[in-house]
Amino acid sequence: MAEINKAPRGTNDLLPEDSYKWQFVEDRLLSTAGLYGFKEIRTPVFEHTEVFVKNVGDTTDVVQKEMYTFTDKGDRSITLRPEFTAGVIRSVIENSLTAAALPVKVCYCGGCYRYEKPQAGRLREFHQFGVECIGAASPAADAEVISLGAQLLRDVGIEKISLEINSIGCPTCRAEYHKALKEYFAGKKDELCGTCNERLDRNPMRILDCKSPVCSEIAKDAPAVIDYLCDDCQAHFDGVKAHLDGMGIDYKVNPRIVRGLDYYTRTVFEFISGDIGAQATVCGGGRYDGLLEQMGSQPHPALGFAMGIERLLMVLESQGTEIPKPKNCDIYIAPMGEAATLKASTLCAALRDEGFEALTDIVGRGLKAQMRYANKIGAEYTLVLGDSELESGKAKLKRMETGEETEVELDKLADAIYDATFAKFSDELNI
Ligand code: ATP
Ligand code: MG
Repeated sequence: MAEINKAPRGTNDLLPEDSYKWQFVEDRLLSTAGLYGFKEIRTPVFEHTEVFVKNVGDTTDVVQKEMYTFTDKGDRSITLRPEFTAGVIRSVIENSLTAAALPVKVCYCGGCYRYEKPQAGRLREFHQFGVECIGAASPAADAEVISLGAQLLRDVGIEKISLEINSIGCPTCRAEYHKALKEYFAGKKDELCGTCNERLDRNPMRILDCKSPVCSEIAKDAPAVIDYLCDDCQAHFDGVKAHLDGMGIDYKVNPRIVRGLDYYTRTVFEFISGDIGAQATVCGGGRYDGLLEQMGSQPHPALGFAMGIERLLMVLESQGTEIPKPKNCDIYIAPMGEAATLKASTLCAALRDEGFEALTDIVGRGLKAQMRYANKIGAEYTLVLGDSELESGKAKLKRMETGEETEVELDKLADAIYDATFAKFSDELNI
């Protein structure tokens, strides 16, 4: 029986003590992508199953083995998104975004669902940040998107990561290449896994990213697609490399990168970390010039990438990068008695209007227990409010770190905290 009091296998809870790390990373990613003109798009977590079967490809691992598919109460086949591109492009077409200025530049961030064997860096619910750039065919677009990937990784604090690129050509060069692959694998048919045996006829390139050790061993010496590029694809790839060279972006051509999804054409790339073990690809992407037309739109060249946020955080952790912690509660007001409790609520409301995190007792605790609570949550300041404070309109603002107390006027509490905070920073900065 499933353990109903445990999160499902391959999923993680993001706890309050860690959520600041995600907020930091997501803010950085969105704002850096904004510098390149990418605006956020949010699409449903689920789509009609066909969106993925047709476009990710029915001979891919994702579609054959990994999708969370179910029939809804209206008898529709629905799938939780295993990736974003197919759904985002569905939305771009449905909402005619290409009718406005081209290129359309969108970015996204959210959960993806794949029924995989959970292990380090491989989850069943994971999160991706990615971008799609629609309506740009030139090598400059590839280089811009790749350089955005590099800058995003740098901006979130990743110190060392390598970029590998390849070209997997277009349907024209792919036809020749498929012939060569079929010839190569034909003699080894019996050794391939069942899935790859079926792939041999329909989509032999998929054998190259099979995870079975036998298949990957055989695939090692298979012909490389980069040796079969047509003149246009070769010129495009040379153009991409020239742009990357010009921008000073380091890369390595790796003829073995084919990517696991069918829609890719021409340029494909991965950012790979040496720090997080076997699941080392933090970001993967490429061009998918045929996808929009395949999905029923006017043809538009396009490209994008997706990065796994969990893997990105794993790299930051292995580097020992400290993500800036949010500040603690600014002030805890500890009231004694009914009148003070009322006053504390109004003081807190006024302080929050000024942008302070102000908390007070909503449990009905005695003074000692309240002070223990203030300590636990790391309140910067506390203020005890009893009858004499209410009468005089004055109270002692206590800085918890040092125990130092300053008398303040209750109706100027916000100013007092500003001043005290400023004094503290001046102290720390020695100015
Ligand atoms: P892999 O080869 O590791 O299975 P993939 O080619 O299936 O990766 P993509 O579909 O290109 O991955 O997804 C882009 C990124 O999303 C990956 O580079 C990785 O960072 C992240 N990712 C993919 N699958 C998972 C997963 N199951 N758990 C965590 N992150 C994942
Ligand atoms: Mg995978």
